[in-house]
Amino acid sequence: MTGIFYDLNSYGHEQVSFFHDKETGLKAIIGVHSTVLGPSLGGCRMWKYNDDQEALRDVLRLSRGMTYKASLAGLNLGGGKAVIIGDSRQDKSDEMLKVFGRAVDSLGGRYITAEDVGMTVRDIDTIRTVTHHAVGGSNEGGSGDPSVMTAFGVFQGMKAALKQSGMGESLEGLRVAIQGVGNVGYHLASYLSAAGANLVITDIYPNQVEKVVQEFGADIVSPDQIYSTNCDIFAPCALGAILNARTIPQLKCKIVAGSSNNQLETEKDGFDLFNRGIIYAPDYAINAGGLINVGAELDGYNSKEVMDKVSKIYNTINKVLERSKKENIPPHQAADALAEQRLEEARKTRKATSKTELRSEYLTKLNKAMTANN
Ligand code: NAD
Repeated sequence: MTGIFYDLNSYGHEQVSFFHDKETGLKAIIGVHSTVLGPSLGGCRMWKYNDDQEALRDVLRLSRGMTYKASLAGLNLGGGKAVIIGDSRQDKSDEMLKVFGRAVDSLGGRYITAEDVGMTVRDIDTIRTVTHHAVGGSNEGGSGDPSVMTAFGVFQGMKAALKQSGMGESLEGLRVAIQGVGNVGYHLASYLSAAGANLVITDIYPNQVEKVVQEFGADIVSPDQIYSTNCDIFAPCALGAILNARTIPQLKCKIVAGSSNNQLETEKDGFDLFNRGIIYAPDYAINAGGLINVGAELDGYNSKEVMDKVSKIYNTINKVLERSKKENIPPHQAADALAEQRLEEARKTRKATSKTELRSEYLTKLNKAMTANN
């Protein structure tokens, strides 16, 4: 069986909405995967998809991922995501963003949007001119660029993975290979350098590499060499699906811990890492710092509280790896089990009607935050 409802059923979505606007060319899909833990929150990705089906699959996969990420991070948020079909450098306009913002608004707080690939903090500011259901902007209590907090969370998760590996917690003198020194990779390099780690880096843009070399000092390798480079920790901070049948046999690291989303190409790759004795800190567990950061806006953003919450990624990774050891299952499965456990408990304790209550809780908080910002 195939078709949209088949996909919705297999991914377990509550709602998927399609939006089209002839004048601005907007073609958007918003996926609300789950509101069991609270209103769904997740970024909007603008991408030149090959066809509508590809865009739909992406929004379904990404929004389901957000449910798991929020659950494991202990947030009272559900999973949602949006995609806009188009080239962000050519097709985006302020008018289009406003139409998208109105589409978000029409869901009445079931979905809160944020930044993702192809979107900027400025775009969120534009969207916020027509809806309050958008976080990660630069004004009205907006938290701005989340990548510093994402990097801080990855740094915490690395320490937990190190402890679980029996190597202690200190990064002093360890060699860490960073794939991609963009927003997150750059800040991660900064934390690691301050902790005394030796860096080896790669990126497809020489000026990004140069910046890290000048500021923190690092060895440089080509994008292809990063997998086989000698290191203690490999930190993927660029692309998804980079842990696969081609790359896993090349790895010389003891730990994989980085910010990239969807690092495992297939489920089997998680088993392959496990069988090779490489500790994998599951992507959505270790890269939740950005979500924690934007989500904090809903309670009135406080950077000290956010740092405290993000530093708990250390505990999350510890818990995941302990479960993995205890049950002799790969860490990605242990993370899924923990996330599902919290969702299941919430499903049992919160009856169907409480979803409305959760949303009105959110709307009350939003009103309070708006009053405070005015
Ligand atoms: P970014 O675009 O700023 O940085 C990515 C870097 O990777 C760029 O410098 C790019 O040139 C480089 N790159 C691309 N292809 C490469 C390749 N083949 N080899 C080496 N380098 C390559 O993105 P970002 O915001 O730093 O995010 C990095 C990853 O972390 C992404 O997968 C993103 O989805 C994920 N993530 C980011 C955040 C966040 O707060 N920004 C939060 C959660 C997850």
